Formats: sequence, structure tokens, C-alpha cells
Amino acid sequence: MERSESVIVVATRNQGKVREFAHALAFLGKPVKSMYDYPEVPDIVEDGETFADNARKKAKTAGDILGQPVLADDSGLCVDLLGGAPGVYSARYAGEGATDEDNNNKLLRELEKQKQGEDTEQPLLGTARFICHLALYDPATGDFTEASGSVEGWITSTPAGDGGFGYDPLFYLPDYEKTMSELTLEEKQAISHRGAALRELAAKLKA
Ligand code: IMP
Repeated sequence: MERSESVIVVATRNQGKVREFAHALAFLGKPVKSMYDYPEVPDIVEDGETFADNARKKAKTAGDILGQPVLADDSGLCVDLLGGAPGVYSARYAGEGATDEDNNNKLLRELEKQKQGEDTEQPLLGTARFICHLALYDPATGDFTEASGSVEGWITSTPAGDGGFGYDPLFYLPDYEKTMSELTLEEKQAISHRGAALRELAAKLKA
């Protein structure tokens, strides 16, 4: 396939991520394409042990097939009381093909198990962080440019909000007294793991 400098290609089929990338990269003035636009790229098995391994694998696999630079994001939620789970398994915590709702229900079940016997009136179940690793791969040079970001919060037993995706309705930000789902796209971008990683990546590309 011919290399195109007029689009940004992101190796994801996650609609939530596509929305956030389109918003964050709008200033480049180029359309953001995702794997929905390139059905010839197969689903990439995310079998790495770290977010970085998976991000590099997604960017390289799609970049080599398409013959053009590809940006990949691997991200997830790490909950302290669960030893860092679901981590790299965030998308399929409740099993292959799990929906966001399935994963959120499983997360609450696992945390409630951990907290048996404790004060159940307390909605904040434990501390957690979202982590994002970005890898931009250029098949012409074989080079990767990488960046990562994280954001700290609490898991709440009372989901709220209808923005964002994934675990956002359960991720409570004490400074805002809101969940990530209750923030606007702009507010989420300003504080999120993905927003932080994108800013670091942009700085590296400008340097
Ligand atoms: P990936 O496509 O393997 O990187 O899976 C990422 C998974 O982590 C998503 O399916 C969500 O479950 C979770 N996740 C990553 N970033 C976010 C976010 O910004 N909000 C909520 N959940 C997220």
C-alpha cells in the first residue's frame, strides 16, 4: 500500500480511543484513521507482559502491513488492592469478547470480595491508576518513538457519568469530585493517562 502523509493511522478498533485520538490530534489538520478503515489488518494478539510490549507489537504489525507510520496505544487500569489487576488484561478482564459493562461488574465483584467485612457504606473501594503507553512506528526506518502517562484515582462502587469508555464510570477523581465519565472530552484529555502520553510524544516529535 502507498504511504500517505495526509492521514494519521492509529492501531485500534476501540471507539473510545478513536474519539480521544481524533480530538487530541485535530490540531495536525489530518484525518485520524483507525483499524476500522483498514480491515486488511487482522486483530493483533496482545500477548505482551507490559503495556509497552503490546503497544510496540500493535504499531509494528499494522505499520509493516500498511507501509506507513502507525501510532498504537496500549493502556489499562491497575488496582492496588488487586495487585495491579486487571493491568494488561483490562480489555478482557471478564473474558474474551467482554463488554465494558461486563468488565466493570467483574471489577466491582473482585473488589467487594477483597473488602468483605469492611464498611460497605464507603463508596470508595481502593486506589487505582490508568496507564497508557504510546508507540509510534515508522516502517521506513524501523524506528519507534514512545511515551507513557498515568493518572491516579479511586474505584467507586457507585458508577456515574456517560462520557468516556471502559472503566471511566468507576474511576473517581477526588480533586474533581467526579468520575472520569463525568468529565468533558477536553477535561479528560487534560488529566488523563492518554492525554499525558500524547503530550510527551508530541514534545519528543518536536525536539
Ligand atoms: P487495549 O485496547 O488492550 O489497550 O485495552 C485497553 C482497555 O483498558 C480498555 O478496553 C479499557 O477497558 C481500559 N482503558 C484504557 N484506557 C481507558 C480509559 O481512558 N478509560 C477507561 N478505560 C480505559
